[in-house]
Amino acid sequence: MIEQFHTTGSTEPSRGWDRGGEPVGWAGAHPHPHARRLHRHLLERFAECPFQGWAVQTGRAAHDSPKAASGLQVHRAIARAIRAHLEDGADPARCMARLLASARPDVQADAAAGLRRSIHAIGRFLQSLPADAVIAHRGGIGARSGLLARDLRAPAPLRIVSAVDLLHAGPDPREVHEIDFRSGQSLLTASDVRASLKFRLHAWCLFGAWPNLTAHHVRIWHTRTNALTPPVTFAPHDAALAGAAVATTVRARRDIFAALGHTPDDQALARVHAERARDFWWPDPGKCAACPACVGCPAAHGPARDLAADPEGFLRDTAALQAALGQRIELLRQTVRRTGGDLVFDGIAFGVCRPRPAVNPVAGFYEPVVAEGE
Ligand code: SF4
Repeated sequence: MIEQFHTTGSTEPSRGWDRGGEPVGWAGAHPHPHARRLHRHLLERFAECPFQGWAVQTGRAAHDSPKAASGLQVHRAIARAIRAHLEDGADPARCMARLLASARPDVQADAAAGLRRSIHAIGRFLQSLPADAVIAHRGGIGARSGLLARDLRAPAPLRIVSAVDLLHAGPDPREVHEIDFRSGQSLLTASDVRASLKFRLHAWCLFGAWPNLTAHHVRIWHTRTNALTPPVTFAPHDAALAGAAVATTVRARRDIFAALGHTPDDQALARVHAERARDFWWPDPGKCAACPACVGCPAAHGPARDLAADPEGFLRDTAALQAALGQRIELLRQTVRRTGGDLVFDGIAFGVCRPRPAVNPVAGFYEPVVAEGE
């Protein structure tokens, strides 16, 4: 059952709306006293595929990457610039440029490429917004905290939290406008935004906090190309549907932990794979290709299904297997790049020093040359 939060102040997100300094975003005046927190990043993984969420939450799959680190630096620069602008009247563009200069050196070049083209446009946009129009932002504190939250009562008290990059008011006091900054290469379409659990979850939190809210508009600011998408609007019925999706995902998370615990052995994985695979891993070429857990996924490594008896299961497992193979090859290539030497063993080798040299070789398998006399 979904718990509805109530706010202490206005029922509308009008300018200057006061959350009474409540630090936990929109959890409002009546948060559940024993609710544990689950961040949206993890929830999204369970919604994508429960095994993926389980593997990331239990630490079996690493989910950091240079791309994610670079995106984090961009978000950090924007968040701090917004705060400095709101609190001290600082020039946001200058502030972002300065923060990029002090970004993590290993990802600084990519972070700069991911923000450079938008710095001045974002700066102008922030300066054009009346200060009291900014409702919340990532990096904001107290009443302007960008952290959204809403509690679920069942199956156990759980607070779902997520951060908005920037939430501001517009001319209609019953509507809010969210801007999400994205520095990656991929561009989100309107259908991507509408289907995204992140924005649906934000709508669920916002409509839960403000009963009189009528619209939540979301725009994506692609900072690498300085492109701002037209708004996608979420209405109260979208939020209700999102709440149901959140509750279903939380139940799937509970069920996979009940089935696997925190450290299953190979036998337990094989048993669950044979009996309940479709409850817990949902292989699909697109999902598996981007999954950090594919190397250890039971769909990729469980006992092979009988193609004639279960063609769909065989096909889906093959999608996971293909992703796992791709990731294993990439791990081998990273090792070759990092160590500067090929992996050479008796009768098998991997790397770039093939017997027949090539220009710009891509690391791969080859048969090592056996030295005379060996
Ligand atoms: S590889 Fe595919 S099936 Fe396996 S956990 Fe990842 S998304 Fe799920």
